[in-house]
Amino acid sequence: MRTTAYNLAMIAVHSCPLGKVGSHDTGGMNVYLRETALQLAERKCRVDIFTRTHDSDHDCIVNLGDGVRIIHVEEGIDQALPKEALYAYFERYTCSIEEFRKSEGGAYDLVHSHYWVSGPVGQELKTGWRVPHVVTFHTLGAVKNLVGAGEPETDLRIVSEKEVANHCDRIIAPTEREREALCEHYEVPGDRIGVVPCGVNLELFRPHNRTSARQTLGLNGDRVILCVARIDPVKGLDQLIEALGMVDCHHAPQLIVVGGDEHSDAAVAYLKDKARAAGVARCVNFVGRVAHEILPLYYSAADICIVPSRYESFGLVILEALACGTPVVATDVGIARSVLKHPGLGWIVPENSPLSLARTITYTLKYSDQSDEVKLARRAAVNRYAWPEVTGTLFQEYRTLLS
Ligand code: UDP
Repeated sequence: MRTTAYNLAMIAVHSCPLGKVGSHDTGGMNVYLRETALQLAERKCRVDIFTRTHDSDHDCIVNLGDGVRIIHVEEGIDQALPKEALYAYFERYTCSIEEFRKSEGGAYDLVHSHYWVSGPVGQELKTGWRVPHVVTFHTLGAVKNLVGAGEPETDLRIVSEKEVANHCDRIIAPTEREREALCEHYEVPGDRIGVVPCGVNLELFRPHNRTSARQTLGLNGDRVILCVARIDPVKGLDQLIEALGMVDCHHAPQLIVVGGDEHSDAAVAYLKDKARAAGVARCVNFVGRVAHEILPLYYSAADICIVPSRYESFGLVILEALACGTPVVATDVGIARSVLKHPGLGWIVPENSPLSLARTITYTLKYSDQSDEVKLARRAAVNRYAWPEVTGTLFQEYRTLLS
């Protein structure tokens, strides 16, 4: 018989774990929610993930796995609203979640909110339910504004993030660096923040034979470099394309960009123009969003996985590439510095510029070892990030709060 450890309410109003990962607002957070929820269920928790109604074809309640449900709330709010606009509705979301709870007659032990728009919902529920509120921001508005990519984040976001950060019971940051950023920009005392990394699915992400992966994907060219990213200015695709024109290599490498959907058309057209201007249009291939389950083939087919981002709070892609045995070239973002400690694993780009990126790619293409032994060493370097391990640390955080 199942004895429940904790009843957990996860709040992610803006984006559903059933969404198409790699499209505009659906990325690492959705993978994180799915994987941690399923692992928490393995630890006998019951997890309800509350999110907005976003697809009329989905039932209100969808079972993600044993002990994990996705609950779609507030049908009445325009499903096409951009995520920032949802902040204005936080009281309606709170009421809907409370109505759902009442209708079932249950109770939750803890509420964990994800991303800034869900923070105020978590705060209201914390007060109403008298339970601890844990927050994971996934990205920080203040840091996004510092790097200055894309539209600036609003004052509303910064103020709300700071308010929630200082009044919730615990913040989970994915890296030590994000912890420091919370202390510096939002004046949060460091002992209120737990560092729990994100993870990688080591069963899914494993090395495949490179030649057959390339054949299956129809990739040719003797050098293939890969970038897996939502199409967003923060991901630094513009500087990667500029860098491609400067890579010093006998035959220009093929760049495969995975990510994006119909909402990315204008941004992709802009990047294609950049590629034409840099003289590399024929070497760049935007393949759009690829199902998570197919990605191991892309990582295995590539000589290098590039992460040219201006900001990552973590960077799941780094772990996934290494788990597939592929070296990583990354700007100094997220988890990169903590993982890429050995030259066999990959390199941190010394400066965040196209030239520096081009030099590091050139060097890695020339010298990276693609033997099976080194591939296994890359995979071994991310073993400690397996989802069961990192979810164990998250569970301990809950346990401490609830004891
Ligand atoms: N991803 C995917 N298909 C795509 C593009 C990305 O499944 O077409 C996944 C990728 O495997 C990773 C996540 O989206 O798990 C991106 O997470 P990351 O932390 O790198 O970036 P974020 O989206 O959180 O900014």
